[in-house]
Amino acid sequence: MLRIAGITPFSTVDWPGKLACVAFLAGCPWACPYCQNYELQSARSASYTDADLFAFLEQRKGLLDGVVLSGGEPLAQEGAVQAARRAREMGFLVGLHTCGAYPDRLREVLPFVDWVGLDVKAPWDSYERVCGVAGAGELALASLEAALEAGVELETRTTWHPDLLSAEDVSRIARDLAARGVRTWAVQAYRHEGTTGELAQKTVYPSDVPAELAALFEHYEFRRA
Ligand code: SF4
Repeated sequence: MLRIAGITPFSTVDWPGKLACVAFLAGCPWACPYCQNYELQSARSASYTDADLFAFLEQRKGLLDGVVLSGGEPLAQEGAVQAARRAREMGFLVGLHTCGAYPDRLREVLPFVDWVGLDVKAPWDSYERVCGVAGAGELALASLEAALEAGVELETRTTWHPDLLSAEDVSRIARDLAARGVRTWAVQAYRHEGTTGELAQKTVYPSDVPAELAALFEHYEFRRA
């Protein structure tokens, strides 16, 4: 049974270019201080099950392009693989937001997924600074490699808070992703609202990355708070 903390019936922002509903699966093994869904980090935050999700989807056939599995970290739950498969069988496109903590499960689910939004939180050797867990960077890199190997449509995204990532860190991330063949990268300025407030609210956000970094990608977007 899936533990789902919330379902957004219609969204145009969670999967760029698609009208999708979003299922926020409960539970996440990491603890990023900028998390906007930190109440979903606990698996106890669930209010719905997969039965609720699929009853909803049954009524939305023909009205939505797809469903996005988000979180929390959706791949923390084994049932996410079966849910993606079932949604596909119902005729929906399937999107997935993931932090990359479960590369093996990502490989299992990829055959049923049309688009992945993968967080790239830091240079691979600096993940612990952002998500608080040793070895997280290796897992995230393995997830990126799995997505690239599968050839799934992929958006990488980096949340930038100046206390967590220096300009040099952001440059390292961009150059590494481009060298690996990533074509889509979005940088999201830190948003204070909805977080635990652990990080200082910066009044001067990074305005954008240098143009030469943006130019490394076929699609680049800077998302403001
Ligand atoms: S990985 Fe995502 S859901 Fe988990 S704590 Fe970090 S920002 Fe929140």
